[in-house]
Amino acid sequence: MRKLIVAVAAAALLATQSTAQAPQSARPPRLLVVIAVDQFSANLFDEYRPHFTAGLARLASGTVFRNGYQSHAMTETCPGHSTILTGDHPARTGIVNNNWIDQSIARSDKSVYCAEDETVPGTSSIAYKVSPRHLLVPTLGELMKARWPGSRNVAVAGKDRAAVMMGGHNPDQRWYWTGAKYDTDLAGVAVPPVVARVNALAAAGLATARQPLGTTPFCQSKAREVAIAGGGKPVGSGRFARKAGDQGAFRASPEFDGDTLALAAALVDAMQLGKRTDPDLLAISLSATDYVGHSYGTEGEEMCLQLTELDREIGDFLKMLDSRGIDYAVALTADHGGKDIPERERLAGTADAARVDPGLNVGTMGKVLVARLGLSGPGLLGDGSYGDIYLDRRLRASERERLLKAAVAAYRAHPQVEAVFTARQLQAIPVPTTPPESWSLIQRVRASYRMGRSGDFFVVLKKDVTPIADTTRYVATHGSLWDYDRRVPILFWRPGTSGTTIEHSAETTDIMPTLASMIGVPVQPGSVDGHCLADVPGAHCAIR
Ligand SMILES: [Zn+2]
Repeated sequence: MRKLIVAVAAAALLATQSTAQAPQSARPPRLLVVIAVDQFSANLFDEYRPHFTAGLARLASGTVFRNGYQSHAMTETCPGHSTILTGDHPARTGIVNNNWIDQSIARSDKSVYCAEDETVPGTSSIAYKVSPRHLLVPTLGELMKARWPGSRNVAVAGKDRAAVMMGGHNPDQRWYWTGAKYDTDLAGVAVPPVVARVNALAAAGLATARQPLGTTPFCQSKAREVAIAGGGKPVGSGRFARKAGDQGAFRASPEFDGDTLALAAALVDAMQLGKRTDPDLLAISLSATDYVGHSYGTEGEEMCLQLTELDREIGDFLKMLDSRGIDYAVALTADHGGKDIPERERLAGTADAARVDPGLNVGTMGKVLVARLGLSGPGLLGDGSYGDIYLDRRLRASERERLLKAAVAAYRAHPQVEAVFTARQLQAIPVPTTPPESWSLIQRVRASYRMGRSGDFFVVLKKDVTPIADTTRYVATHGSLWDYDRRVPILFWRPGTSGTTIEHSAETTDIMPTLASMIGVPVQPGSVDGHCLADVPGAHCAIR
């Protein structure tokens, strides 16, 4: 938060003089700041845009693609972050989901976390060793370091998978919150002493009980308690009061992003990012909006206060960069969109909004089908009630064929299921290259499909079905191929420049080639899925 940024940065402020001229978009920036706001849907951006007054208002005065797309079907955190700085869809990044099933691995836990190294003995998909080994393509920071060995690549995030997917392989620094502090998995990397200071301030904040936040007239107008099906507590009028030491409540509150930005600010000063001839990259993923969305939904007072604070925190961060005289450019987007709780959506007129039938759970469905076909084992492997589903490889090939046929028929017959696509169907079509709003459902799933990681078939739930039945932990989510989860804002801004709002679509895969063109990193046509966006001032798209 503001005080924290000021506290950790004060010493460097005294030592630094503001020497930069007013930046011109003709000159390449020295620091690229790429911010991912987790679960910041285009719907939320559109709704809140008139209310932003600080950092998000500044960024919105730049070039705004209000119809940005995380174009693929599996709109989860790990795939979404993997598109932003690689320029590639998950079909190419290999990050098909947060977790997938790999029945060929040696350990007993066949679930693989996207940002782990499962070959490390004694690990599991829960107690994992953080690693970028599953990310199959380089990130912009890697390309910059290949071109300019002095260039620094730094990633700071609330979630480890966000830091890994944005920083890529061999970054200079990679930091993420692990429950009580910001930590890194990078061995042999000098840790700036300021990290310990930020951690001490974050820990002291977490250890202190929080009074409810003050509200605003707009946020107060949203404050209405709504009852939730599935065992959860009512939501809608929370103001983030929290007991001392409550880590879950801390994470689902604006405090969390404030601390992540404070760490980013501290690293800017400690590493003197943007102060050398070679350009640097700072990737930041702010996770609190996602936890607030999951915990309270997107249309209550809670999300309103979260976005109000996020606007202020990003504003403080930009002011800090200004005060250091750094010539920087910012791109901001989201890893996926999101949607509100179905209970409140129904009150607002979305009649079909519903929670998923627990009978669609992969484990439940597998048991029913195995019994019906006279097979053994769980039959189907997967997570939840939709997306990639895998056939148990311990079954004989003929048994798997029978099970696949029965499972596809059973899912297709369910009233909450929109479509089912088999791996064979997906392998038969190319990854689409047309504008993302025109993609058919199977094309969206194809952009998420990678042979060897994706399932034997993929289940698509109907629009407005929330895949959470038990609401005791989370009440709302994302993850579908519908536009409320795919559409995200894509903003480019540089101090001293202004832009326009653009209605035609762009993809998060376009961010990497656009930023690369700004600083003169060549990206060969066709080498990535994304395209340089010529509407962005300072982009030199001919370089493609
Ligand atoms: Zn996310």
